[in-house]
Amino acid sequence: MVMSHAAEQLHHEHDHAVDHAAMQSEDIGGESTDLGRTDRPYVSNWLDENSFARGGGDVDTRTSDAFDDGSQVRADTTVSPIASLMQKQPTTTRGPNGYAQWLRDAIALKLVSVDGKASLMAKEQLADLAEGRPVKTYEFHNEVTPAREKLRRQQTGKKLDDTHRVSDWEWTINMQIAPILETLVAVVKARVKANGGAKSTVLHLGQFVRADMWFDPPDGPSGVPIHSTGSAVDLFFVGKTNGAEDVLHLLEDLPPGKIEVFRDTDSALHLDRRAGGYGLGVPAMGDYLPPENAIDPKTGRCPAQKRAETDASDHSRPLVAKGIKNHNGHVFRSTATWQNGAWQWSTWSETSESLVDYIQSAKLREALENFGTPKKT
Ligand SMILES: [Zn+2]
Repeated sequence: MVMSHAAEQLHHEHDHAVDHAAMQSEDIGGESTDLGRTDRPYVSNWLDENSFARGGGDVDTRTSDAFDDGSQVRADTTVSPIASLMQKQPTTTRGPNGYAQWLRDAIALKLVSVDGKASLMAKEQLADLAEGRPVKTYEFHNEVTPAREKLRRQQTGKKLDDTHRVSDWEWTINMQIAPILETLVAVVKARVKANGGAKSTVLHLGQFVRADMWFDPPDGPSGVPIHSTGSAVDLFFVGKTNGAEDVLHLLEDLPPGKIEVFRDTDSALHLDRRAGGYGLGVPAMGDYLPPENAIDPKTGRCPAQKRAETDASDHSRPLVAKGIKNHNGHVFRSTATWQNGAWQWSTWSETSESLVDYIQSAKLREALENFGTPKKT
């Protein structure tokens, strides 16, 4: 979806607001929150710990306390806690038998980790859902004036009516379902099954409900930010590098559906539930999308344009460059002609090219193209 000019304007203002928040964050709640001065502070903290630069393997092989309760003694006569959890098939998000509680049980069994700052409120959010409360979450420290709040309510329709600012940047969002949890449960189940039911950590879970209303201002109810409705998560897949291998691993474990790839910020791998399948947000770096084509939201330019200028042997023929936009799944094209002593680039126009074709890792590109089709055996 292409943002309106007004939305883009707000987006830019947001960058400044985050800097402001970063400066103020130490005053919040008395404890240093250590937010980085980046677009998405908590995502970035998460990355510090689970990051692209992360070296070692991170499968948790510690002995689980959950297994020190004598259950092994009864193992031949009773179902193990993991086997018993695998048998449960939730049908709701909330309540004692819902997806949220299932994930809490998986955390207790150390199949899912919520370790470190990265996970911030994941545990609390699962508890809120399982125990019937509005979900507590954060938003960046954007100034919310009564006029903006009125606009937000208009824009989000009824989707986020039961959303309230509790304090400076703490919000509660009341929701009946958080669809991404169903997907996460399916991924955990697939991985535990692939492990033969062994006790090892198969998923790192971070905060999955986020008040993004002013980070991604909606143009209308269909544009309500998906992190605000429990439909999305920025996550790491218990891989080592968050490279192509990790996403390949995820594609093996995801229930079938259509996958729509889009460019996300460089600090996140993103997964969301949408009609017919999933949205997969990947950064413009490494195995993913080429930085050369990444359009800077502030300048509207990308390195491919600069390179086309450098490569031009003369000024007689027009230049062409391709670009990709943040939070967008399309490929754009711009042309330049030499006028008044400089290359003048046209505004970006959408092409019918597939963004998947731009994925750098051939293996990942192929897996994305073939996702959902029956596996060759
Ligand atoms: Zn995201």
